[in-house]
Amino acid sequence: MISVDEAREIILGSISPLRGEKVSLLEALGRVIAEDIYSKRDLPPVNNSAMDGFAVRAEDTWGAAVDKPVWLRVVAEVPAGVVIRRTLGKGEAVKIMTGAPLPEGADAVIRKEEVEERDEKILVRRPIPPGLDVRYAGEDVRAGSLVIAKGTTARPAEIAMCAAVGRSFVSVHQRPRVTIVSTGSELVEIDGEVSPEKIINSNSYALAASVKACGAIPVMLGIVPDERNVLRRIFLEAAKGDLIISSGGVSVGDYDLVKEVMQEAGSELKFWRVAMRPGRPLAFGFIGGVPIFGLPGNPVSSAVSFEQFVRPALRKMMGFKELLRPVVRAVVEEDIEKSVGFRYFIRGVMREEGGRYLVKTTGGQGSGIISSLVKANVLIVLPEEKELVKRGEEVEVQFLTDDYSLV
Ligand code: AMP
Ligand code: MG
Repeated sequence: MISVDEAREIILGSISPLRGEKVSLLEALGRVIAEDIYSKRDLPPVNNSAMDGFAVRAEDTWGAAVDKPVWLRVVAEVPAGVVIRRTLGKGEAVKIMTGAPLPEGADAVIRKEEVEERDEKILVRRPIPPGLDVRYAGEDVRAGSLVIAKGTTARPAEIAMCAAVGRSFVSVHQRPRVTIVSTGSELVEIDGEVSPEKIINSNSYALAASVKACGAIPVMLGIVPDERNVLRRIFLEAAKGDLIISSGGVSVGDYDLVKEVMQEAGSELKFWRVAMRPGRPLAFGFIGGVPIFGLPGNPVSSAVSFEQFVRPALRKMMGFKELLRPVVRAVVEEDIEKSVGFRYFIRGVMREEGGRYLVKTTGGQGSGIISSLVKANVLIVLPEEKELVKRGEEVEVQFLTDDYSLV
């Protein structure tokens, strides 16, 4: 049996990011950019006005005061997107809109609200410093410079930058196709004929949802009975994906055949037991070079194992650098007992009170109790060496929230 950390190290050490693919810019949202992005031109491309007002030669206003105003002659008007081919002469001003290119000779902008407009003239009552309300060419981005480094996650800010430098397509790491197999002769599909001895296959849906929630593509291959030949055939089929998840059949029962099939020719079993609860039986290996996770069948065990191992692996494939869930420290509101030697992942509800986090368990922690997973917003992580966590102690807590807007 190996530790959670050793298991993660083996898994992540044997998985590499998938290749890049070109996608249209908006498709890149939430994905990891797989190329360095440079700007071909200066941003902004020319000196322009930051305000609606008047472009002037700053020195023309020097000496101006409330009781000693300076008159400037308004010789033209520039709306945004228009260039005027006139050089500003001494004592002249040009009416200018935000974003419009500054005319030759002008070096400052006076806001509209600051001047009095009379006929074709403006009255200025203070000296204007050079550069006032001017946006300089290249002040944001210099032509030829790197604007987004490979490995950056595309948020709306990165999408803005790509668009601003003229990129309608960008390369992002591919989304892994994840094939999902649920093993167990007792299983039926949701709409299948349910008799007392049958269990509805909820794991395929739970796992597919988790795969989707982290941005990968689930392919549900359905239920497989506990028969070696059928299992072997479906695993070979599943190896057409980028990663395989199977659930059930990894413990020590007579019908637990997953790890045996993973030890046959063409496959490789790296480990099959991890010192954690829930989720101790957990096989990891390769079939035809494709990583396969043999998760336990109990619904909570498979969900917790997915969180700890499969999600980080998928995130690595998608090019993310942050692979694990964010964790915080929280004060536990009840005593919790555990066995030494195992890392525990306990379903919890956390809330914030008076600037600190408080957490309690969601009740029944059996590995088949889905209702306590439904109530949970965190997993309380208790270290291997602990035997008892007392009420009032601080514990590590893993968030379980996702942003489903990307699904
Ligand atoms: P196993 O790991 O195959 O021994 O399965 C343990 C228990 O988990 C079984 O007795 C089932 O009750 C449950 N189980 C296994 N597979 C699934 C599944 N796909 N959906 C829901 N429950 C399952
Ligand atoms: Mg089974």
